[in-house]
Amino acid sequence: MSDTFTPPERIGFIGLGKMGTPMTRNLKKAGFQLALNDVNLDLARTMGKELDAPVYEQMSDLARACKVVITMVPDGKIVRDVALGREGVPDSGLAAGFAAGSVLIDMSSSAPVGTRKLGEELAKRGIHMIDAPVSGGVRRAVSGQLAVMIGGDPKVIERCRPILAAMGTQLFEVGELGAGDAIKALNNYVSAAGLLAAAEGLVAAQRFGLDTHKALEVLNASTGKNNSTENKFAQFIMSRSFGSGFSIGLMAKDLRTALELAEQVEAPMPLGRHCVPVWNEAEKSLGANADHTEIVRVLEKLTGKELR
Ligand code: NAD
Repeated sequence: MSDTFTPPERIGFIGLGKMGTPMTRNLKKAGFQLALNDVNLDLARTMGKELDAPVYEQMSDLARACKVVITMVPDGKIVRDVALGREGVPDSGLAAGFAAGSVLIDMSSSAPVGTRKLGEELAKRGIHMIDAPVSGGVRRAVSGQLAVMIGGDPKVIERCRPILAAMGTQLFEVGELGAGDAIKALNNYVSAAGLLAAAEGLVAAQRFGLDTHKALEVLNASTGKNNSTENKFAQFIMSRSFGSGFSIGLMAKDLRTALELAEQVEAPMPLGRHCVPVWNEAEKSLGANADHTEIVRVLEKLTGKELR
């Protein structure tokens, strides 16, 4: 399979949210043409004008216009609907329009088991699928420096490499279809556990009478530092901007995926069993659209004092 997707190949892109919008801009910058869809049609039309790209309301029409389509939507259930059509609405999915040999690249953070199942169903229709979820947040989506975790047939991945390289600088081939989704969910578990542990430590330090900025400085010069202490606390939490661009609902979804995965493969995750319910409760009390860094508000509510 040598038919690599290179510019100016037209790429279908579904999901123009906080991540999808900057990712489409980088594809355009790399010379690809685009065709767009979002359930929010006003947003899709605005982006269509900016990127000189047609907007398709029907997934099957989008699939007829492109040999490769990227999904960047909230979760794998939506990817499934987009790919195969909504229940009771036959032919409303990409599969109804794709020519044999077309490729679906799911860059959403989806659940690996669902991804494998979807891939098998698409394969029966001659459609390839790879999973390529990302890390790095909105900031690195804008700069085109995402880390991309890719699962699937190496030959198909090779065909898609120029597309992925337009959005990310670190491309990791991690295994079969679903492997990217697995390590993505596990990464977010490790990240969320680190953020929560740091918040607990800083709240306890504050209650002991320490200055929180000084305590953070000490963590960052010591073995307790992690990505949250080094980046998220100063930028999004102490500043009270809570503007990371990654919602608590999406984080909680990833953590449920990680815990489910551990259960499916019988891997011990005792810390996860305590940590994930805290995020689920936070999603309920703060609302799914709150920023994930607002998790500290759960602890602040209990102490009655902000981490400033
Ligand atoms: P978002 O909510 O900002 O954007 C999702 C977009 O998908 C929205 O524009 C929405 O209208 C669209 N959409 C929803 N259902 C749809 C459907 N049925 N058909 C077409 N469009 C639909 O989310 P985001 O923050 O951009 O995240 C997208 C994905 O990337 C998620 O899986 C998330 O977990 C993952 N992710 C996000 C970040 C981040 O920092 N925000 C980082 C890494 C990975």
